[in-house]
Amino acid sequence: MRKLARWERQLENYTSSLKEFAQEARKGEGEFRFNSHLIKASDIAGQYFCEKKIEMKHLHGEIKTERKTSGTKAHEMLLEGTVRIKRKDLWKKIHGEKTVFTPEMLLLARYKGLVLAGRPDSILFMRGFPLIVFEYKFSRSQRPFRNHHVQVGTYGILLKNMGFDINRLFYAIVIADPQAKDDKKLKERVVKMVIANGPKEAVLTTENARIYYSKFNEKEAEHDLDWAIEFWKNNREAIPTRNPNKCRSCEYGEKCDASLNVEGQRN
Ligand code: SF4
Repeated sequence: MRKLARWERQLENYTSSLKEFAQEARKGEGEFRFNSHLIKASDIAGQYFCEKKIEMKHLHGEIKTERKTSGTKAHEMLLEGTVRIKRKDLWKKIHGEKTVFTPEMLLLARYKGLVLAGRPDSILFMRGFPLIVFEYKFSRSQRPFRNHHVQVGTYGILLKNMGFDINRLFYAIVIADPQAKDDKKLKERVVKMVIANGPKEAVLTTENARIYYSKFNEKEAEHDLDWAIEFWKNNREAIPTRNPNKCRSCEYGEKCDASLNVEGQRN
């Protein structure tokens, strides 16, 4: 029998993880909090913003806000010009000679008994090595918050557990002005700047965005994840934020028994 190439083995493992997960999901309720089978990287990140808010979302459902709708539109713009290809072809390209970007690639892997999943905005691969994860946030803030780093850190752990070598991995958190959502050249400019910068940490500035470029730190990412998964394993109650500003703009404010009122007191 022909020995499988590295990319074929990796693809086989990935495909069987997807099948395994689909089978588990068909069986019914999962064993983790809210009967979950799978924990999303965005939820892990959200726990670092306000864990109570993640609980509220799972108990009461997603509530649409203007901010979320505009964020979704901005991310759709980032997908313009991309093409869908078959999984096998994607894997071949990832391990091919040329560099390749994989927008919204589904990452899925087990981590300490849980199934984690996420879709980074884009990953740059070269000869099978993930080199840069790009994550865009459209916000008036001047800097990324802890939850943004946690989200990208989780993608790094996912890539590792999918069998990729993450030793050269960097990540770029792009904080773009909300107006930049219509800027069709944003992505191209960001990529050019990051590549010209080379493999060293930096804060790069374009006319409508700031790029926080950092080396992936596996230990830190694992540490952050380990704290977060205790919640999914039902080992603690949801921890609410201590920042009243977050409660003031929270869509669950009226329902939340842990909401901080104007004076910063719990209800
Ligand atoms: S109201 Fe405050 S504590 Fe409650 S979910 Fe929202 S941000 Fe968290």
